[in-house]
Amino acid sequence: MSSIYLHIPFCKQACHYCDFHFSTLQKTYRPVMDAMLQELSLRANYLEDKKISSIYFGGGTPSLLQEKELRSFIDTIYQTFDVAADAEITLESNPDDLSAASLKLFKRANINRLSIGTQSFFDAELKLMNRSHNAEEAKASIMRAQDVGFENLTIDLIFGMPGGDEKTWRTNVETAIGLQIPHLSAYSLTVETKTALAKMVHNGEIILPPEDVVLAQYKLLCALTKEAGFAHYELSNYGKPGFESRHNTSYWNGTPYLGIGPSAHSFNGQTRQWNIANNTKYSTYLNAKKDWWESEELDEKERFNEFVMTGLRTAKGISLNVIDERFGNQRVDQLVQDAQAKLECAKLILEDDVLKIPEKHWMLSDAIIAELFWV
Ligand code: SF4
Repeated sequence: MSSIYLHIPFCKQACHYCDFHFSTLQKTYRPVMDAMLQELSLRANYLEDKKISSIYFGGGTPSLLQEKELRSFIDTIYQTFDVAADAEITLESNPDDLSAASLKLFKRANINRLSIGTQSFFDAELKLMNRSHNAEEAKASIMRAQDVGFENLTIDLIFGMPGGDEKTWRTNVETAIGLQIPHLSAYSLTVETKTALAKMVHNGEIILPPEDVVLAQYKLLCALTKEAGFAHYELSNYGKPGFESRHNTSYWNGTPYLGIGPSAHSFNGQTRQWNIANNTKYSTYLNAKKDWWESEELDEKERFNEFVMTGLRTAKGISLNVIDERFGNQRVDQLVQDAQAKLECAKLILEDDVLKIPEKHWMLSDAIIAELFWV
């Protein structure tokens, strides 16, 4: 099994915290769309003959796609690749794009999972982050998507907002749960360099909450979602049974994926490849058949570190038997030795052959995982 990711690098406006690749200018829209269609055909053999179990339109803002482009992408994928009959096909969207007409269009185009970039149900927080929608649109878009028949839908929320207290965060999570969504992704606000948010924090216009407040919000989120029947199956992801994201799970399992579009990454099991993060260069290079990507071969050490890093952020953890099969028993011995101190203070647990981080320590998982790397 494998998956396909399409990066749609256009947004209406720039959210203050965002460091993804996107443009708010439409002048490269046509050439980029044409180049992406071409790239799908040119890279038809990248995944060899593996069946495609998930397709993901991310960005940027894929809900800005016009019907013609969306249909062309989907038709080309079905004509070029062997797509499983029950493939998960996700489209990321912004609430202000989700009119009844566009939702019906997405449904007709075979989109069967909708990811709605809600982020907050409070106007003040949305404004602070320069989101293009308001709280009312966020709620209305979710209900409209459900009315149109999108049963499999997920929303994103952000915690650790400047000025956001426990009460606000509780309302955000309870509103999401009350809207009967089957999946939720929640991220703590991260200040990425070169973003408007970084500048505002640097200038003192925005003061971020202290770490203990962020941690308390995370714990509240874990408790509320658990009570509502969600499984916390990965650091930032919560799903009702049967609604876990197949696409993201395949990344964490090390399944090969093909990334199409500017800045998109691909992985074929051995080599990682990333497309140029520039719309004009991407389409020009691709048309001229000049390399529009860079790549690196992953050595054993990098593959091991990646396996540990992604696996330990999931509820499933990592299997020592699998490590033995893939990397040899010396690596298992070294890992158990490196894990000893954290096992003693219960920041790691070993059950049968599975090494895991308990849920309450997932927020600190980076530091724990770093001690287990093969260096
Ligand atoms: S809509 Fe998404 S991709 Fe676009 S700027 Fe906002 S967060 Fe970034």
